[in-house]
Amino acid sequence: MTATNPVENLQALIRCPSVTPAEGGALTALQAMLEPMGFVVSRVTASEENTPDIENLYARVGTSGPHLMFAGHTDVVPIGDEAAWSHPPFAAEIADGVLYGRGAVDMKGGIACFVAALARSIEEKGAPKGSISLLITGDEEGPAINGTIKLLKWAAEKGEHWDACLVGEPTNPDQLGDMIKIGRRGSLSGTITVHGVQGHAAYPHLADNPVRGIIRLAEALMNPPFDHGTDNFQPSNLEVTTIDVGNPATNVIPAKATARFNIRFNDVWTAETLQAEIIRRLNAAAADTTLRPARQPLKYDIVWSERPSHVFLTRNEALISSLSDAVEQVTGQTPQLSTTGGTSDARYIKDYCPVVEFGLVGQTMHMVDERVAVEDLETLTRIYQTFIEQWFANADA
Ligand SMILES: [Zn+2]
Repeated sequence: MTATNPVENLQALIRCPSVTPAEGGALTALQAMLEPMGFVVSRVTASEENTPDIENLYARVGTSGPHLMFAGHTDVVPIGDEAAWSHPPFAAEIADGVLYGRGAVDMKGGIACFVAALARSIEEKGAPKGSISLLITGDEEGPAINGTIKLLKWAAEKGEHWDACLVGEPTNPDQLGDMIKIGRRGSLSGTITVHGVQGHAAYPHLADNPVRGIIRLAEALMNPPFDHGTDNFQPSNLEVTTIDVGNPATNVIPAKATARFNIRFNDVWTAETLQAEIIRRLNAAAADTTLRPARQPLKYDIVWSERPSHVFLTRNEALISSLSDAVEQVTGQTPQLSTTGGTSDARYIKDYCPVVEFGLVGQTMHMVDERVAVEDLETLTRIYQTFIEQWFANADA
């Protein structure tokens, strides 16, 4: 039995309730699809203190180069209110040409199609002239500590080396063929605390109101813009996401105030240069006494979130054009090459090889009634098969 039908592959995967951190049988189901095609499958459990153990899977067919990696995750987000689903979330029922279930688009669907594409390609053209690997984690939707980062490191330490990677996350906003992701913005978060002096609202000269300071600092972060965008990226954008004082009284000046912010940044910056710019802005604003005349510069401190995401842009022409041409051949549509949206595990893979992302239409991801058109599964399978064959042909040339 070969896994040439993406609909059957997806149904088998959805019927495994693999809500992070549970494996739920999903990797076992995937292993059963890959082994008959000649894949050597390794199951890798990763652990770290204070996080649940996570099962991951690495599978390779072929022993020589060139080496193409497909990356993804079988874990899914929780179902939310089960009663709100029109079809049970782990039943994989099809109604009116639409397949329902948690993970249908994010991203068991992408895995199901890639496996079907491989099965068809091997059946029609024989084993690839090189190697193909699947790097599949069970920890993308969770803390992502015991997933892709550790699996990449584990494989690299065994001597694995890749020439290119395709991530099968849902990338299309409206229609299959809309958008390939060739990079991602970085993300950086921090918390600022302004320290004042608590006191009576009627005697402000005896106190120092930190609310004045937090307003001034927050403004300095939001204005002026950090940049105006680049050829491949939108302008960097900072959002102050909360300002907290926690003061229940109207006649008390509070002792401190905090604000949190998140910035999505483009390739004008690195996480380090951006941190320096933010500190520069905060120091300048802290020295400005407009809101607090005749006072000392205000006192603040800043705590950065532990792990910033670094910005990246893939420039590997052979990889991008193999995928773009495949999308065009199958759908007739020229995909937009984009760096929009949130972060993904591609941010870790880019340290090992060039990476692009293309998958299903993302509209229902993480929602109740997550679903995919059965027709889209067939189309994506054909795109993936064309891509695989073109990438190896290009790599050979
Ligand atoms: Zn995903």
